[in-house]
Amino acid sequence: MKHSSGRLFPNRLVWKLMISYILVILVGMVTLAVAAESVAPTAFNRHMMGMRDMMMGPGMMGGGRGLQQLEVDLFENFRDALTEALIVAGLAAVAAAVAVSLFVSRRVVTPIRQLMRASRYIADGHYRERVPVTSDDELGDLARSFNQMASALEQTEAMRRDLIANVTHELRTPLSSIKGYMEGLIDGVLPATPDTYQQVYREADRLQRLVNDLQELSRVEAGAFDLHRRPVQIADLIRQTAARLKPQFEEKGVDLRLDLPATVPAILADEDRLSQVLVNLMGNALQYTPSGGTVTIRLAGRGAELHLTVEDTGIGIPPEHLPHLFTRFYRVDKSRSRAGGGSGIGLTIARHLVEAHGGRIWAESDGPGRGSRFTVALPLSGTPMQKHLPE
Ligand code: ADP
Repeated sequence: MKHSSGRLFPNRLVWKLMISYILVILVGMVTLAVAAESVAPTAFNRHMMGMRDMMMGPGMMGGGRGLQQLEVDLFENFRDALTEALIVAGLAAVAAAVAVSLFVSRRVVTPIRQLMRASRYIADGHYRERVPVTSDDELGDLARSFNQMASALEQTEAMRRDLIANVTHELRTPLSSIKGYMEGLIDGVLPATPDTYQQVYREADRLQRLVNDLQELSRVEAGAFDLHRRPVQIADLIRQTAARLKPQFEEKGVDLRLDLPATVPAILADEDRLSQVLVNLMGNALQYTPSGGTVTIRLAGRGAELHLTVEDTGIGIPPEHLPHLFTRFYRVDKSRSRAGGGSGIGLTIARHLVEAHGGRIWAESDGPGRGSRFTVALPLSGTPMQKHLPE
């Protein structure tokens, strides 16, 4: 059913184009015929008058009536010849119009037919389908946009498949641990001690964090969150967050340092969202820095931006991983991160939140074992109380 209607449409288009060409020719022909037939008698008479003057000159006086009859016969013949010529010309023009319209409409209809076929394939889930771009006109533009749409759909589909694969993978690990512990408990292989229950609790907690992260990720990826922008004293925010996380740093034996300029302009931002980004960066720095190391938080003005840097002396990141850290589920060392509870979602959420503020986030590292540096650049423009900042 779908296919027959698909074929019908271009055929109708061929006919429409052909009929429109023929109509144009017919209108031209009718105009030509009417004009020729109405102008012809006057023109003929005018020419005949000249001829009559020549023929009625001295010595030709007696032949007046015969000449008049000849004139009428001549005109009749001329008119018939004219009409015949117009009919032949008209038929030739219509035949030419049919030939040309077939050629032109095929050039127009073929790409449309290809687009229709490709869109049907895509609707059936074959996102690899593309159409050839054969011209530089609007049809070519249409084919190009169609191909762009197809690759966007292909990419989204690949991301959806990846997401399902990743989520399944992430859920499977804690779930099989919990199942393993419970089986051990049921079979009496594992002792029913607080330690065992603690392990089960830890896995369930990991599951819950993962589900929360996923929910947050889907929200920020869809842009389904509101930014409540207010003037934020970012240096104060850093001090408060540092004070809140200090006990965890002390417990692990990691030194937490702040390097903040004396005066910092307030920026227009959502304080809770910025705090979320900061906690994530500081949490990572703490997680990937062994005891005895240092984590430093810096704030500095760079042109029209405010740069917030979280630098650590931890395990560092090999350069080939740096561009991928902000991609969801990406982890440098998959086994170690998972053991530590990381799912590779935190930095993706942070990137979305920073970008929602019109900012940028990136990572730098001198390599494994040489620490990492995460920088959040936020625009100062449009912020109240702009002042010059020490660079
Ligand atoms: P996770 O929850 O796994 O930490 P993130 O998105 O926050 O997820 O980080 C992604 C990956 O980036 C981590 O798994 C880790 O490999 C790497 N990473 C993040 N921060 C640091 C850091 N300060 N030092 C070294 N590696 C880091």
